[in-house]
Amino acid sequence: MKPIMLLLSMTLCNLFACHNASAATTMDHVAPTYWWAGMENPELQILLHGEGIASSDVSITAKDITLKEVVRMTSPNYLLLYADLSEAAPQTFHIVLKKGKKTTEIPYELKPRTRKGEDVEGFNAGDVLYLIMPDRFANGDTGNDVVEGMLESTTDRNAQYGRHGGDLKGIAGHLDYIADLGATAIWLNPTQENDMPEGSYHGYAITDYYQIDRRFGSNEEFAQLVEQAHGKGLKVVMDMIFNHCGSENYLFKDRPSDDWFNFKSEYVQTSYKTASVQDIHAADYERKIATDGWFTQSMPDLNQRNRHVAKYLIQSSIWWIEYAGINGIRQDTHPYADFDFMSRWCREVLTEYPHFNIVGETWLNSNVLVSFWQKDSKLAAPRNSYLPTVMDFPLQGLMNRAFDEETTDWGGGLYGLYDYVTQDLVYADPMNLLVFLDNHDTSRFSTDDSKAANLARYKQALLYLLTTRGIPQIYYGTEILMTGDKADGDGTLRKDFPGGWPGDKADCFTPQGRTELQNAAFDYTRKLLQWRKGNEVISQGTMKHFSIAHGTYVYERRYKNRSAVVIMNGTDQPQELELAPYREVLPKTQATDVLTGKTVKLDSILSLEGRESLLLCF
Ligand code: CA
Repeated sequence: MKPIMLLLSMTLCNLFACHNASAATTMDHVAPTYWWAGMENPELQILLHGEGIASSDVSITAKDITLKEVVRMTSPNYLLLYADLSEAAPQTFHIVLKKGKKTTEIPYELKPRTRKGEDVEGFNAGDVLYLIMPDRFANGDTGNDVVEGMLESTTDRNAQYGRHGGDLKGIAGHLDYIADLGATAIWLNPTQENDMPEGSYHGYAITDYYQIDRRFGSNEEFAQLVEQAHGKGLKVVMDMIFNHCGSENYLFKDRPSDDWFNFKSEYVQTSYKTASVQDIHAADYERKIATDGWFTQSMPDLNQRNRHVAKYLIQSSIWWIEYAGINGIRQDTHPYADFDFMSRWCREVLTEYPHFNIVGETWLNSNVLVSFWQKDSKLAAPRNSYLPTVMDFPLQGLMNRAFDEETTDWGGGLYGLYDYVTQDLVYADPMNLLVFLDNHDTSRFSTDDSKAANLARYKQALLYLLTTRGIPQIYYGTEILMTGDKADGDGTLRKDFPGGWPGDKADCFTPQGRTELQNAAFDYTRKLLQWRKGNEVISQGTMKHFSIAHGTYVYERRYKNRSAVVIMNGTDQPQELELAPYREVLPKTQATDVLTGKTVKLDSILSLEGRESLLLCF
């Protein structure tokens, strides 16, 4: 077909429903919608979904592309094509379906790559992730709050579990706020389509892996948001979910085969007890019910051991990286999915994009269990998850107690942090731990107003979070002391950011809209984040710490001949710290405290106020 003819036919075709005069087959879905020439992995799976298409003969009219395999599933409405692209140049080819005298031609585009895999930069310990729940951050376009034809057809800002109207435009409009605060990356809770009848706001029930939810915006707006973020020095981490999808996903409603989902597509509840995956004593039943059971009835559990499911999921992630240029993926419920599949997925992504990063949600209660999931874990060997970053949930639990308790030399408060970090040998790469005080699934660090009013507590927590080893993540609104207790429901952890909606009484994006207390927290956070940004002492530095003495925790981060030393009094009482034991990290007799700008004498005894912290640079 000549280019001009092709262009004409493409224009006339209604996206995928492209059929010539004698055809009658309409395509409901083509996934991926398009692909690229020149990827590391030369195999492409094209999933076609349309009524009765399985009985068609399939061929392709393409240059240097081999159709290796055509797979028919138990549903008559699917065809899975496997093509070899190893010799293929960018082109638009046609998938030809013939049924009797009817012929359907589906144009399929193989685009030229616009980025090199090695140019895609992942996130690392030099970054701080700012986690946003898109429905609850800012409403930049009230016109998309309700989209006609979608199943959840109302918004109600007073409803915990209802949609509130936040969107990508709202996030784009506040990138300057986030960059000014000093974060260097945004992690968005899932933005892919969740066309579910209720509870669709959180995004964890995907109904189309290739489509941004239209209430958030379009695919193009998502790609633009990534580009805008990059322009402001912000990386973008996309949330993905391979363990399950939404029950309104076409792949569940009209499933290719029953083994597309676990328990033959029949609802069986997971135990949520994923420690069994690593438990050397676990009964087979425990492992199966944990990983194959469904997260909820409305979230059918994908069977990644089905090779077609596996390929479909892997391609969807690579599609978003290549399409939008994201810098990282946060993988939901990582241990609930098949270990070997997830390992293969990480390897395939990192083969295409060697500097990319992936963080798995490893919600397990000990460092032994969490470390098992990190790439090159000795505990998992000879298996290897190839997952670069895991979430430090045990430290999150400890941090939520450490700054409330009195610290002694043998327990309580900061001792818990010290004691935990002494066990870091269990981790293959402690610098690639995601560290956080809270996220969208936990109580906020400030559970209530009295906690929020305790600025000393907040300051110590942020100082520790932003100077310990690993990659810090801050949950939106932490910097303005937003409160939320999980006991009151998940919706209370995901309140609207004040000022994100037209007509909001207070606009906490501006100093004028914040209270004095909020400004104190914001300014302190900003100061620390700005200090941390680009600071190799933190991003690449070693960590050296001392056991607790006089209720005080002392640790050093060092890179080459520069260092930062944190001295933190974990008691409500003043402390007199004899400095002789700390001389290896205190090379001078005075230093400037980054937090206050004051000069601190480091002679023989250091006097600290109750809960006082110092951040000294050498
Ligand atoms: Ca909106």
